[in-house]
Amino acid sequence: MSTMRAMIVPQAGAPFELVEREIPSPDPREVLIKVQACGVCHSDAATVGGHFPGVEYPRVPGHEVIGTIAAVGAEVAGWPVGARVGVGWWPGSCGYCGECRRGQAFACENVRGATGVTRDGGYATHMLADASALARVPASLDAVESAPLLCAGVTTFNAIRNSGARGGDLVAIHGIGGLGHLGIQFAAKLGFHTVAVNRGRDKEQLARELGAHDYIDSAADDPAQALRAMGGAKVIIATVTNAEAMQAIVGGLGPRGTMMLIGATGPISINPVDLIVRSASVRGWYSGVSVDSEDTLCFSELHAIGSMNEVYPFEQAQQAYDRMMSGQARFRVVLRME
Ligand SMILES: [Zn+2]
Ligand SMILES: [Zn+2]
Repeated sequence: MSTMRAMIVPQAGAPFELVEREIPSPDPREVLIKVQACGVCHSDAATVGGHFPGVEYPRVPGHEVIGTIAAVGAEVAGWPVGARVGVGWWPGSCGYCGECRRGQAFACENVRGATGVTRDGGYATHMLADASALARVPASLDAVESAPLLCAGVTTFNAIRNSGARGGDLVAIHGIGGLGHLGIQFAAKLGFHTVAVNRGRDKEQLARELGAHDYIDSAADDPAQALRAMGGAKVIIATVTNAEAMQAIVGGLGPRGTMMLIGATGPISINPVDLIVRSASVRGWYSGVSVDSEDTLCFSELHAIGSMNEVYPFEQAQQAYDRMMSGQARFRVVLRME
């Protein structure tokens, strides 16, 4: 019997363990993926720390996966063995419920949860995925370099392109980390007046190299005031994981501006006046479904957009995870399987 290796979380809060287990067979609607690379995302803490309701252990985290199809289930059409595929947070959809049929498969009523949280993910040499969760990966994209596009990438790209901003509008990317450094590149290449907002000046040079046209130091200046001085932001993409920082920038929205929340923080409080006087809004945005990931990969290939990664062998998942959680990584951490 052929075996695979996986870095499991044995129980909430416990350190990773390397295990060898039998390679599973795909269910009728699943494929087996030979994983080449998997990004390490802050949301993996949902599994490692047990912050997500209903996680069962042991669990293999990982939802920024690129690999090749090694086997297909009996009912899977259109995904041949050998195809390069990516899997993100979204675990797939049933295709027949009301939300799926309304084109809102992200809210599928039957398939819930997340890759690497409610089902095993990509910190492993092999994993199973529902065929509906697969994104095609362009041939020219390197697996290790591109893995973070399956979560950090699609989350920022999809939020920006669904924000309502039009070419030339002022789009502020709040936070220059794993999400923000991609958001700057996407916003600039999508044709927006791109303003990077971060504490301090140490990332200004990099932000400008990534395509930012302007830079606001939110430690030295009131970011809301600075944005209003530029005419107000049509869109603020809030990637930070700090509620106070989010609250401090809402007032920088321009008329009918929208703040898109994609960084998961605790509760934030907002002064309604900041929204009322500008008919502005604050909304969340779900990362995306598999075809959104595919669009992200294709757009990134077209415009040579990529994340800056620190790469670890997959056996060092613990060090990689700790590095990511330290907040010091520049900017994404990726596990390489071979
Ligand atoms: Zn993620
Ligand atoms: Zn459904």
